[in-house]
Amino acid sequence: EAQDVGFIGLGNMGSHMASNLLKAGHRLTVHDRNEAVMQRFAERGASIAQNPREVAEASDVVITMLPSSPHVQDVYTGRNGVLTDAGAVRPSLLIDASTIDPHTCRILATKVAKCTLLTNSKNIGAGEVPILLDAPVSGGVVGAEAATLTFMVGGRQEGLQAAEPLLRAMGSRVVYCGGTGNGAAAKVCNNLALAVSMAGVAEALALGQHLGIDAHTLSKIFNSSSARCWSSDTYNPVPGVMANVPASHGYKGGFSSQLLAKDLGLALAAAKESGSAVPLGGKILEMYNILCEAGHSSLDFSSIFQYYYKGKPE
Ligand code: NAD
Repeated sequence: EAQDVGFIGLGNMGSHMASNLLKAGHRLTVHDRNEAVMQRFAERGASIAQNPREVAEASDVVITMLPSSPHVQDVYTGRNGVLTDAGAVRPSLLIDASTIDPHTCRILATKVAKCTLLTNSKNIGAGEVPILLDAPVSGGVVGAEAATLTFMVGGRQEGLQAAEPLLRAMGSRVVYCGGTGNGAAAKVCNNLALAVSMAGVAEALALGQHLGIDAHTLSKIFNSSSARCWSSDTYNPVPGVMANVPASHGYKGGFSSQLLAKDLGLALAAAKESGSAVPLGGKILEMYNILCEAGHSSLDFSSIFQYYYKGKPE
């Protein structure tokens, strides 16, 4: 059934996700800081809104896909934000698909739970108050375009039921992770493990080269031995070892070092919050900060391999 959906944040990921909602026949109201990208959606039949408040006024469900926690806070609680001071809003379902920290999700959910629904709201969330779901994704820009994203969802289960048809229009897997913030926690932990595995594979392949064994042969050994992992057999960081990965295309495209550094920062903040030790996360964030300062910000995160050659200060 076609729904009135609001979408805020039409960047690398959000623009594809919003397109897939249009393709599925939903009525879309969009907002982004970037006027040009909104115009492209207007040409395809979406309504455009000047601020998040206008999006909320036109929508039963609002989806946000923004860079990080401060942007999400601003869009929800800033001036002309999704949540009004009076506390009554039209959307009964709010879905944040950005990668943010679990603590921010939980604070936001408390604010959302204090809101009420306008009397003319169409109650999609099926609660007395609006429901906020954290629903970060994996699958990258390719998955966003092909509508094959995996959603990791935290929040009330009634909300997930209501959200499912929309999530299915943008992705192929929806995993319920538990209460508010658990989707965000899953994403942050996944990316911490990803950073560690990528750095580990890059470090070992660099050492191998220095010892005289080429990365191609060593990767083949990893991939049939106990070192095998996604970073070695699907997204190898050494140029030329695999054809269709950023490493073989000047580290262009893919998932930027800047975004991975942001996610490591979220992991470190979450670890501090929960009293958990993350020594590897801290060390790898330091390495990414050096790389970003050396010009790698927009290069794929597998370019950490270059740390062993040029990113490292003397
Ligand atoms: P992006 O920077 O390309 O897009 C963000 C969009 O939000 C931009 O269009 C920007 O103009 C807009 N924006 C920022 N602040 C705003 C505000 N206050 N009001 C309105 N619009 C605002 O980022 P992306 O690559 O689309 O990633 C979005 C989120 O998804 C991030 O949290 C990222 O970590 C996560 N993510 C990204 C990938 C990936 O491969 N790119 C994969 C999984 C998850």
